[in-house]
Amino acid sequence: MLAATTKSDTRYELVVGMEVHVQLLTRSKMFCRCATDYAGAPPNTRVCPVCLGMPGTLPVINRDAVEATVKTGLALGCEIAETAVFARKNYTYPDLPKGYQISQFELPLCIHGRVDVDLPDGSTSPIRVRRVHLEEDTGRSVHEGGYSYVDLNRAGVPLMEIVTEADIHSAEQAYAFLTGLRSVLRYLGVSSGDMEKGAMRCEPNISVRTPEQKARGEYGAKVEVKNLNSFRAVRSAIEYEMRRQIDVLQSGGAVEQVNMGWDEERQRTVLQRTKESSDDYRYFPEPDLPPLALSRAWVDEIRAELPELPGAKRARYIRDWGLRPTEADALTGESLVACFFEGAVAAYGEEDGKPQRMANWITGELFRLIYADGEGQDLRQIADVRIAPAQLAALLALIDDKTINPNTGKKVLDIMYATGDDPQDIVAREGLAMVSDTSVIDEAVASILAANPAELARYRGGETKLFGFFMGQVMRATQGKADPNAARQRLQELLDEA
Ligand code: ZN
Ligand code: MN
Repeated sequence: MLAATTKSDTRYELVVGMEVHVQLLTRSKMFCRCATDYAGAPPNTRVCPVCLGMPGTLPVINRDAVEATVKTGLALGCEIAETAVFARKNYTYPDLPKGYQISQFELPLCIHGRVDVDLPDGSTSPIRVRRVHLEEDTGRSVHEGGYSYVDLNRAGVPLMEIVTEADIHSAEQAYAFLTGLRSVLRYLGVSSGDMEKGAMRCEPNISVRTPEQKARGEYGAKVEVKNLNSFRAVRSAIEYEMRRQIDVLQSGGAVEQVNMGWDEERQRTVLQRTKESSDDYRYFPEPDLPPLALSRAWVDEIRAELPELPGAKRARYIRDWGLRPTEADALTGESLVACFFEGAVAAYGEEDGKPQRMANWITGELFRLIYADGEGQDLRQIADVRIAPAQLAALLALIDDKTINPNTGKKVLDIMYATGDDPQDIVAREGLAMVSDTSVIDEAVASILAANPAELARYRGGETKLFGFFMGQVMRATQGKADPNAARQRLQELLDEA
């Protein structure tokens, strides 16, 4: 992981805090009735006097956006404010029509959360969530043919900002935190979490410090990295910055507090601008909006409706169904996958290690088909697969009762994936039922022994590893339909007969 780690590097501790902006899946914008479906829409067709920032207009708070933020806050273990206040964050930019963004500053909706991040090595680290607040997205500048244009369709789309404490100490932890967070957002249905579409934007602030600084409770100067459009880019940027900062410090220099961008092509950070402090934004309470009171009854209602979250599901699969952590992870990352798995187990049964067997088929064979098909690695495609959970359960039952062997099962699954047909029909139609009739197997074995006298002589002369060769021939002769156990047993008997 630490490509350039030298002995003295280990003196430095990596310290990362994360800011994540998330577009909420509401139908209308944060403070007006314009639609949020701006993707692919002609420029400036999702606008009104409010989101264009016209004088004399007044914002109205979107209740669904507040609810989505409270939901997220509860899922991240936060306290929900009794009163939240919107604030003006003042800055000028062509895509910000009002000259300020309505955000939250001193009294955000949610504070003091905590997320436990599970790492691949089995360790768990707690990452504190400082705040979750609600604000509005900006418009977009488009640069084309020497001109710059402003498209305000995105201006005013509800944006939730999640800020962590500086509790992340490796690029792997950052990666695990972000994938886990996206998973929670999708379970809650509050955001698509699609980074490549800009629905989730992550900005790590990265610094390193010596043990002496740590002992004094001090931090190194931090660099904030912008424009990261994949989790992999976040991980690479953190690794790169850590090495760069350590190099600067070791050569006697000082790290400057700046904003950097990520150059994906050259795999390095590049200087953007020096960083503003919050004073530069001259925050003050938004005079056009009243303080937002959140009744405890409403918050409790939202809490009661929270779905089972990925961490709880993962623990339940391991505890109740004896799943291995690897499969439990793979099945709980996307709620649509978990839903498919649970439907399949409901049809197949929970006894005798069946859930683990089902987990193996889904994470192995079904994922293979999904990955090979269409949109690459996006497992949400499981919702569009032509195989119903109960049909997959029926396929596994055919293997369990030895109607077909596992290898034939994979072939049947391929056909099910392509056609959506029932496995029983495919087995009948294609004549795939397993041959456990010993007379058929005996016949196949006899003809193979007769056709390979040299190998037979070597086997009987003590070269027993040739068993695998004969076994392969038998399976080929029966077109893979022989019951492997029956075939193995008869082959052994007939080979040892002489
Ligand atoms: Zn509008
Ligand atoms: Mn923000």
